[in-house]
Amino acid sequence: MQLISIIVPCYNEEESIPLFYQRVETILTEFNRHKEQYQWEYWFINDGSQDASLQQMAYLHARVPETVHYITFTRNFGKEAALLAGLKEAHGDLVAVMDVDLQDPPELLPTMIETLEASDYDVIGTQRVDRTGEPWLRAKLSTAFYHVINCISQVQIVPGARDYRLMRQAVVQAIVAMPEYNRFSKGIFSWVGFKTKYLPFHHQDRIAGETHWSLRQLIAYSLEGIMDYSEVPLSLASWLGGISCVVAIFSMIGIVIRALVFGSTTAGWSSLVAIILLLGGLQLFCLGILGKYIGKIYLETKHRPIYLVKEKC
Ligand code: UDP
Ligand code: MG
Repeated sequence: MQLISIIVPCYNEEESIPLFYQRVETILTEFNRHKEQYQWEYWFINDGSQDASLQQMAYLHARVPETVHYITFTRNFGKEAALLAGLKEAHGDLVAVMDVDLQDPPELLPTMIETLEASDYDVIGTQRVDRTGEPWLRAKLSTAFYHVINCISQVQIVPGARDYRLMRQAVVQAIVAMPEYNRFSKGIFSWVGFKTKYLPFHHQDRIAGETHWSLRQLIAYSLEGIMDYSEVPLSLASWLGGISCVVAIFSMIGIVIRALVFGSTTAGWSSLVAIILLLGGLQLFCLGILGKYIGKIYLETKHRPIYLVKEKC
């Protein structure tokens, strides 16, 4: 018998939890009916929910204590922390990571399991191929994000890749061994490598509740991701400085020639002010980038725990 661990981060998902459990149970039971080859367990992570999510998890655990487990945090630590907590507990031969809102279709699980078992792939990832119902600006920014991160960072992220994936235990061990405080899963999944196949699927609407991501949070998250996996923004200052120097040298030569030909002139004050403002702005901008990286180093050096567990069942 192979054990499949299913990790499900939950933040204020009281309505989705029972629906999710029902749907996955139905699909896996049907899939397992003939071969009886698999057992599975759930690890729900209650990421500081303020609603009745914990009660829903406790209810399921009381019904099927060997199958449903949960971890509850002392407060909301974010999805990345919840994923890590789940991965640390998942001892299954195969480990799946899924959102509880059924936006990661459980119907795909049997195909993922079969594909993984029948091949030498270590990870079966999923990739959303359309963005139906998503606002235009959000979709465009997403495309831009994948373009930028793939251009300037050492990791490559497949456009539309979801966190929804099925992995062998070896991959989970590799992910758990990454101790960083600033965790960007899309980057981590890609950084650890292993042979990965992506299965495409179409956008699914949330079954209940609402998304926890505003446009502003998504932009901030994307910028964090770029900074976590690229040092290119840090070299921006050197490039801008270099370009300014070249422009300055040519302007000086121009000014000397003009003074020699036409005599000295005092015109050009406004353009001078504009240039000073521009360079000052660029310097502050680069200082800001430096500051962001230093902030990240500061957080890493504190060695704080990534999450705190209140209860584990
Ligand atoms: N989630 C979490 N902690 C958070 C925010 C979200 O555990 O701080 C969970 C959430 O319950 C869901 C998954 O992460 O299972 C994805 O969240 P959401 O559906 O809000 O993101 P979206 O699908 O809109 O990208
Ligand atoms: Mg969702």
